[in-house]
Amino acid sequence: MDKIDLRSDTVTQPTPEMRVAMANADVGDDVYGEDPTVNQLQADAAAMFGKEAGLFVASGTMGNLTSVLAHCQRGDEMILSKDAHIFRYEVGSAAAYGGVQPNTLPIDRDGRMDIGHIRKAIRGNNVHYPITRLICLENTAGVSGAPLTKEYTDEVAALAHDHGLKLHIDGARIFNAAAALKIDVKDLTAGADSVSICLSKGLCAPVGSVIVGSKAFIQRAHHIRKSLGGGMRQAGILAAAGLIALHDMSQRLHEDHVNARALAEGLAALPYIDIDLDLARTNMVFFRVKPDAPLSAETLSDQLRDEFNIFITPYPGDPGLLRAVTHFWFKRQHVELVLNAIRALMATEYMAAD
Ligand SMILES: *Cc1c(COP(=O)(O)O)cnc(C)c1O
Repeated sequence: MDKIDLRSDTVTQPTPEMRVAMANADVGDDVYGEDPTVNQLQADAAAMFGKEAGLFVASGTMGNLTSVLAHCQRGDEMILSKDAHIFRYEVGSAAAYGGVQPNTLPIDRDGRMDIGHIRKAIRGNNVHYPITRLICLENTAGVSGAPLTKEYTDEVAALAHDHGLKLHIDGARIFNAAAALKIDVKDLTAGADSVSICLSKGLCAPVGSVIVGSKAFIQRAHHIRKSLGGGMRQAGILAAAGLIALHDMSQRLHEDHVNARALAEGLAALPYIDIDLDLARTNMVFFRVKPDAPLSAETLSDQLRDEFNIFITPYPGDPGLLRAVTHFWFKRQHVELVLNAIRALMATEYMAAD
């Protein structure tokens, strides 16, 4: 049976077109600024997001860390959600390498921090306080896959700028947000001072992210990237795949959303599955196994893998919750295979025969 891997969109292999482009890429030493393919990727990303400049980095984590370090000084504070990837899953790097203190706020199921909460979290002028320097949003929000709207983003940007703060968007899946909202990424992120974009998730590139922002921001980020060991040499081999990710793969993400929706609706019709269909808006499907089900979420995950070669894993930190992420290599015909497998495993006859 073919492997069906829904653990994340990071599992996406490069497309055949990417492999050809990588093999034939025009390259140079990027630390000297001489890799034409990297330079093109950076210029194209900046143009697509309506920013002055871009920088190719090794990963989303490096893109976020570089951005935070470029905006903040040691002892400064950044406001972000307690579920933000930057806070939860980046090894505390902003604190470790930048001395940047996170001030975390709760988010609602649409991935939004309350504007009033953000306003209150911005520090006043008091000798006891750290200096608030930065607000970080995440779009789509990893906690639910929900896209943050332009209206919300603009509102947070206005609040930030009124207080002399910067706004960074962790846009690991910003193209998924744009596809779901049917808006250009340039408009969606117009209020942001920096955006970090993953090329290696739903966009299928094997490696890399791009950050975009003002010329001054990117100049500072360039130094920081070098200090983090991110000055790569003939990186055009990677950027060649990144260009296809940016231009072509970013335009087909609605297909992943349609498949996610079909999967979510199919799951909702299965016994013992608890799912909030309102949340299936991009390429992420979160669902629970009901307490009275014949098997737990963990056992379901194990048996899907062992019996059907289907990979769907429990979401860390929330027992009973499973997450399936659709992507380029998950096709429409796979939806029924997954649903049939779960239906079979949930059937008590199957359990009795096991
Ligand atoms: C994956 C991800 C990142 C980090 O990307 P890596 O390339 O894995 O370092 C950052 N933010 C969000 C929201 C992500 O999903």
